Order: sequence, then structure tokens, then C-alpha cells
Amino acid sequence: MASPDLAAWHVAASTDPGRVRPQNEDSCATFERADGARLLVVADGMGGHRGGATASRLTVDELGRAFAAADAVSDRWLDEAIRDANREVHAVAERDPNLVGMGTTVVAVLAVPDGEAWVAHVGDSRAYRLRDGVLEPLTEDHSVVAEMIRRGVLRPEEAATHPRRNEILRSVGVDATVEPEITAVELRPGDRILLCSDGLCGVVPDDEIGALIAASSPEGAVAAAIEAANELGGPDNITAIVAAVEPPGAGSGSSTALGVLVALVAALGWFAFELWS
Ligand code: MN
Repeated sequence: MASPDLAAWHVAASTDPGRVRPQNEDSCATFERADGARLLVVADGMGGHRGGATASRLTVDELGRAFAAADAVSDRWLDEAIRDANREVHAVAERDPNLVGMGTTVVAVLAVPDGEAWVAHVGDSRAYRLRDGVLEPLTEDHSVVAEMIRRGVLRPEEAATHPRRNEILRSVGVDATVEPEITAVELRPGDRILLCSDGLCGVVPDDEIGALIAASSPEGAVAAAIEAANELGGPDNITAIVAAVEPPGAGSGSSTALGVLVALVAALGWFAFELWS
């Protein structure tokens, strides 16, 4: 299987407060390195006052900063970067009485130029892969209801209305240490990745999300997903990142420009070789 052409990734991200919550405690960002590696991050903060928004923003910013500063990035780097972000959020919370107990979920996708990709998550924000029109979950929630489903004591269709549906079992920043879950993801041209907070995946059914993500450009998909959650009441903050892994050469202007440049350099090289020989 050919490596996905990372330069042809087409990424869109958006966050919305929804229709009920007074503020948006979700954060998201997408990052790209000069070597072509990409990092996509969604975080859903919790904690009174400014705590939730601070925890999610800090986690996204710390991951972006570490991503830019790293010599090289890998699954081990991703694991360590989340542990570092946890220490930072926890330390900030310990120093400021207004932020005590703040925490956040995180879900991130890291893709490196050789085609390898990983998902990391803590809590109940999710990653999905859309392939051939089918939305497949790439993460299992670290939550009370997900654990009850795994143990067979709750049916999946009961999860959305269960009184403990908002209780998560792991979070970034609440404790001094955290255990991120990291899984490798195989990607092909044509696949799409969705990262989202529970304001989307806890509100809009997966098959509906899949249809919306498949139906338009990443920008259109993100907007449609947020609109769908708001139409169902928008009970929570809504965040979505959609990345389309496009066939090599079919993507962005930058990869086309690079292709033209490579062709020019090759032609010049051949010309110089002909002159000298
Ligand atoms: Mn949420």
C-alpha cells in the first residue's frame, strides 16, 4: 500500500458553543511541520469558572508547541507529549485556586511522512475513520458508560440517556500523571478522519455523522456536523476536525507546485548532463 501523500491532506476544523452552554470549553487546532508531519487535536475541558476552557486550550497549545520543537515525532513522542501536557495542566491548576481540579479530554491524530499514523486519546472525545462511506470508531471512550457496555451490563443504545453518561475515567490535568491510549491507524488515499468532542458524537448518531462527513468537502462536512448537533438542541459544546487523505497529486496547490519544481529540476539536470557529455 502506497503511503498517503501527506502534502495532499485537506484539513478543516471548527468549534461551536452549541445552544445551551454559556461558554465554549472545547479547543481544537491543526499543526503541520516542515518535514510534512501533521498533528490534529481536539480537547473538551471541564471544571468550574475558567477551568475547563483553560485546561483544553493549554493542552492543545502545549501539544502544538512540543510538536514544533521536537527533533522527530513518533507514537512514543505522542505518548510523552500528552504526559507532559498533563503535568503542565496539573501544575497550573495547583498554582491557581480558580483553576483547581480543572481537566480535559484529548484526542489527537499524528501522521508522519512515511505514511504511519497514530491516534492518542484520553477520555471520551473520539476519532473515527470514514472509509467507503462507513464511519468506523478508532477509539474506545474512557468513560463509565463505555465500561458498562464492555462489561455487558448496559446496551449501547442506553448510553446516550444514562445518568452517568458524562463521567469519564481518564482526563488530562486532574491527576499528577495520566495514561494516554495510543493506537496505530492504517490510512489510504480516499479515507477521511474525524476527530470530535461528545457535543457531536454524543448527540448525532454515528451513521448520520458518517453521511454528513462523506457528503462534502472537509469544510462543508465540519459545518454540516456542527449544524446537525445544534438542530438536535446543541446541548454541549461541539468540535469537529475532518481530514481528507487525498490521492497523491490530487490535492493542494503546494503539492502541485512541488511536483512542477521537481520536474523542472530534473529537466535542468538532464540538460546540464547533455551539455557536459
Ligand atoms: Mn463535551
